[in-house]
Amino acid sequence: MAYFAYQQFKTSEQNAYLQSFANLNTASHLVSAQIEAASSKLFLLDDAKSITQFNYTAKRILKHSPIYADVIYVNNETMQTRSVLLHSTKAQQDPNIIWTPLVKMSPNIAISSLYEKTPGYWVFAVKYSPDHQHQIWLEFDLMHATQSLRGLRTLNDGYVFVIDRHTERLIFHPDPTRIGSPSISYHGGVSELIASGQQFGRHEYYYQDQFKMTVFDANNPLDWVFISGTDRSDILAASNQFTLTGIFIASLLFIIISISYLIHQLNHALRLLNQQTEVADFKSQFRATVDRFLSHQGVQFCLYDSENDQFSTLDFHGNSTIIMCDANLASYFMPGDIQYKGKHQADPLAKKLMIRSRHYSLPLFSNKELIAVIYIKAFFPNFHTLVRMIRDYSEIALSNVLLHKKLMSKDVMTQLDNKHIIRAAIDQNIDNEHVFFALVDIDRFQRINDEHGHKCGDKIIRETAEIMQTCFSKPRAISHARYGGDEFCVLFHATDENDAYEQCDIFRQLIEKRGYLHNDQPLHYTISMGVTRVWVSQHITIDQADKALYQAKGLGRNQVVLNTFKS
Ligand code: GH3
Ligand code: MG
Repeated sequence: MAYFAYQQFKTSEQNAYLQSFANLNTASHLVSAQIEAASSKLFLLDDAKSITQFNYTAKRILKHSPIYADVIYVNNETMQTRSVLLHSTKAQQDPNIIWTPLVKMSPNIAISSLYEKTPGYWVFAVKYSPDHQHQIWLEFDLMHATQSLRGLRTLNDGYVFVIDRHTERLIFHPDPTRIGSPSISYHGGVSELIASGQQFGRHEYYYQDQFKMTVFDANNPLDWVFISGTDRSDILAASNQFTLTGIFIASLLFIIISISYLIHQLNHALRLLNQQTEVADFKSQFRATVDRFLSHQGVQFCLYDSENDQFSTLDFHGNSTIIMCDANLASYFMPGDIQYKGKHQADPLAKKLMIRSRHYSLPLFSNKELIAVIYIKAFFPNFHTLVRMIRDYSEIALSNVLLHKKLMSKDVMTQLDNKHIIRAAIDQNIDNEHVFFALVDIDRFQRINDEHGHKCGDKIIRETAEIMQTCFSKPRAISHARYGGDEFCVLFHATDENDAYEQCDIFRQLIEKRGYLHNDQPLHYTISMGVTRVWVSQHITIDQADKALYQAKGLGRNQVVLNTFKS
């Protein structure tokens, strides 16, 4: 586009030059025609038979042609001069007047340089010298003579002006008050070019904060320099139409590039959403994305746990707070739904979250199960496609985060929690005197492996996990985990230590009595357990339970030991 705009500028520049040259041609033709007309008038005057007839013809010429200033008769022998209009005729003795013969017209015709007839009254003359006795001058009033050149314009501001080479004064200028004054533009460089022998050409110069472009022609018998020029700004203005189109197309391109850049940035931000593995990180990345691409007054993020029908919020550190427990409310939200609601249309969850202004409600689903609802407060609706894009990406990203969390938190073989989860659960229940922790270990498991094979060992691990979940059912049990190998653990509620012991012993007895069928043969195995109250920290709690388990093993296995000591 810039190339086309430049081309347009170049074309305008070329047109300006061509127009200027054409104007120069016209100007010199107009002047030549006037001088030719003058010569015929001079011949007519010379034909006069008497002074009376001469005066009569001269006055008629002056009366009908305002371009002429005066007619002067000069007697070469007496050096007497006579002005038909009876003006002072000192000019005829002026040694500064230079005469240039117009040989092509007639060998006896010459044109004068510019001279001041009376102060401020500039003229030039064409003289006819038919013999040695006399000569006749026809003086041109510059105010009128060259005003026909006024119409010769180049673009908007360009004009033609004419300079007398001998006096370097203006013969013609569109501003008549400038006539007779020296031309600054001419001295801006054209005069040097002419002095160096160049008869016509181009010249560019800087004048009064404007960059001027001129063409000049000094190749004429009058010894005049015709100059036609214009401003560069004028050429720029002439190429504006194309430049404006250029700017318009460039603006369109800019908008397209900006949108592409925005989409690129959005994709990048949304990709980052997908890379999160923690819900808290997902939340802050989501917030950053919304801050960047949507106009809003706040974001509320609410997770939904379908197992417990709980809606919960997450704080900056990732701690969750249950705000509502309502199984029916989940069915209120529809997959793929994006709603922009007024403050009076807020759903019960939004009301609970104190959303009291216009807002978007974005429910997120995973496998048709609600996983979260995001509320974005916005006084004005945003660009719908943008909101949808952010919602769709967020749904997939959050679903992945939760799935990842689930996978990472479970033991693959038994589907029990892993030890990181139960450790975190212990931390959440520290100093709750009704929560107990028990470590479970299969007795002589290596022997089972050795005698019946690893496959059988695997099945016994899975079966033990199942029985533990049945025995310690939720919500009495907080978490069941596989601690590693043939070792398990359970975090559970109990009224006191006796109750805790009893619950563990029931589990132990169940395993003991229950014969696991292997190759249609009952296979009996036992477990040992160490149990303790949750106390001080996860490390101390686990350590206490471990000590109790060690004791149970030492006492002959197949028993529960309650750790009552606290050091
Ligand atoms: P103790 O009564 O002192 O606990 O004796 P033990 O034989 O149970 O204890 P030990 O720690 O010596 O043996 C545990 C064995 O469990 C060792 C390991 O090979 C086996 N084991 C660990 N994980 C698995 C598993 O996933 N499957 C099977 N089949 N065996 C496993
Ligand atoms: Mg064991």
